[in-house]
Amino acid sequence: MERRMFLGGGAAAGAVMAQQAATPAQTAAAVRMRSSGYSPFTTPDYYTFANDLTIERNQTGKPHAGKVLAAIQAHSDDITLYAGGLVAKLIDEGYTGYLIRISNDEAAGRTLGHGVVQNEIDNREAAKALGCKKAYTFYYRNHRMDDCAEIEIRQRLIFLYRLLQVDTIVTMDPYNHYEENPDHLVAGRAAEAACWLAGASKDYPEHFKAGLKPHSVREKYYHARSPQGHNLVNRIVDISSYIDHKVRCNVANKGKGPAGENGSRFRAELARQGKKLALLGDDDDTANVQYVKHFLMEDWRLLGEQFGLGYAEAFRYIGPQPDYRERIRQYAEKHATAL
Ligand SMILES: [Zn+2]
Repeated sequence: MERRMFLGGGAAAGAVMAQQAATPAQTAAAVRMRSSGYSPFTTPDYYTFANDLTIERNQTGKPHAGKVLAAIQAHSDDITLYAGGLVAKLIDEGYTGYLIRISNDEAAGRTLGHGVVQNEIDNREAAKALGCKKAYTFYYRNHRMDDCAEIEIRQRLIFLYRLLQVDTIVTMDPYNHYEENPDHLVAGRAAEAACWLAGASKDYPEHFKAGLKPHSVREKYYHARSPQGHNLVNRIVDISSYIDHKVRCNVANKGKGPAGENGSRFRAELARQGKKLALLGDDDDTANVQYVKHFLMEDWRLLGEQFGLGYAEAFRYIGPQPDYRERIRQYAEKHATAL
């Protein structure tokens, strides 16, 4: 997408004031950015940037009031780790938010039933920490989603897009090269294809008989966890004001992932060795929060530092496309002559 197209998008006009182009020096420096080494997911040279890279900052008031956001994740820790700051920011700026989890996370839990019950609770608690109105789960089997009927997942998302009248999604990049987790790619592809089809008037007509209306998703934020290598990232989002939301939604993931109660476990492990880390404090909640903030959030602090921000997240942003019929009408107004 070229920058001039984004600037020309009518629905996005209000958001432009909060954005600015990154300088070439910032972009070049960030390309060389290294991981902190504290995160189990990011890797050196993680980010490469598009030429039209922009920085999205906080917006005052509620510029997104009346709009609906769906944050779609394969697993309970995807949105929280990679886009928790963005989702909290957009909801604070007026969006009504929903968190949609596609898998049941059965292959990653610590509790009875492979953690399915705890992960369900965690998904709801993470949604609350982000400010979402509701959390949904589709319960497809964890790490086996490439064996699922993608068209079925897509259809379920189309139903929710129409039911909730979703305007904007945040999800895994469906074109993420070098991604090893099949669930991430299936979730991203289904979420993307459903955006356009949700607005079609002939697909799944039974939805309309039930009272739903076609509704296209017009804005997308894609995040990735592995090196993309194809200059796809075009949006840096300043999440400095929302880092505590991001920390809290990750601490909510008790059953799986690198956050949850790992801080208090680490504090206990050190205590057994007769040691303590001052930053982990004197109680379990402080230990869990500080562990996430000082270790797991370090890559996002380093990313922000490249742009003079406290913390930042990186996305491929796809904005509203111009209405071609309106453009043709404008052309006719300018050029039409009397018969
Ligand atoms: Zn995942």
